[in-house]
Formats: sequence, structure tokens, C-alpha cells
Amino acid sequence: MHLFCRCGQSMTLSFRMLVFENMYQIDLVPILECEDCSYYELIPSIKQDVTRLLAELKEQSREGRVVFTSVNELASVLYDIYKSGQELLEVSSFNTFLVEKCEERINLLLDLYGYASRAGDADWMEEISFRLAALSSFVKKRQFLETK
Ligand SMILES: [Zn+2]
Repeated sequence: MHLFCRCGQSMTLSFRMLVFENMYQIDLVPILECEDCSYYELIPSIKQDVTRLLAELKEQSREGRVVFTSVNELASVLYDIYKSGQELLEVSSFNTFLVEKCEERINLLLDLYGYASRAGDADWMEEISFRLAALSSFVKKRQFLETK
């Protein structure tokens, strides 16, 4: 668990724009930041998604800014928590809180899915399934701050 910075201070949830090779900008990436020494690091469970997105951007030679919270459902839930000012919860309770918030989002997406299904909108259904899958796998693992 990466609860504390190498300087000994606790780290809090924050968001930041990451720029790779001066070309690819990924905005609103959730990070853990130390208030004391300005060191920050990517959240382990998000890291591979950022890496995958960057690889996709490179493949498509898509320069410019991509908003991570609009393509990553977990980041989107984290951003809601952040905006509501609840990121300062104790880290020990944060994981449980995050899982609850993810479950709320899953229920919302399931409602949307039903709606899309009744409307017979296959593209929309597919998009919702994709968003659901990412959250479901996270909720199953329940490991926000660990890499496995
Ligand atoms: Zn520090």
C-alpha cells in the first residue's frame, strides 16, 4: 500500500494533467499527492489503464488532450468523490467508500442499460457494457491501492 510518501507525510487524492513526449496530454488523471514535498505518483490500479490509453493514442498518432475521466469509469467515480470534497477520508475507509460509490455507479449504468435496451440502441448498449465491465472488475478485486 502506498499510503505514505517517502518523506513520511500522508498522500491525498488529486488530479493532474500528464504530458508524454510533449505530444500526448492526458488530463484529469487521478494521482496520490504529497502536500509536503510535492511528490506524486499514479494510483496503482489506474496505472495500467493510463499506459494502455497512451499506447492507443500513439498508435492512432492522436496528439492533443484526452480527458481521462471521460474514458475511464473508475477515474470518473474518483473525480466525483474528489469534487464532493470527500477525498480526505482516512485511507483505511477510503477503499470501502470507493467500492460503495462504484456500486452506486454500476446500478445507475444498469438502469441506463435497460433504457438503451428498450430503445433498441445497440451502440449505446455496447458503450454501457464497456463502462460496466471496467467497474465490475474493480469492485470484484476491491483493491484500490494495490497493484494486484
Ligand atoms: Zn512527501
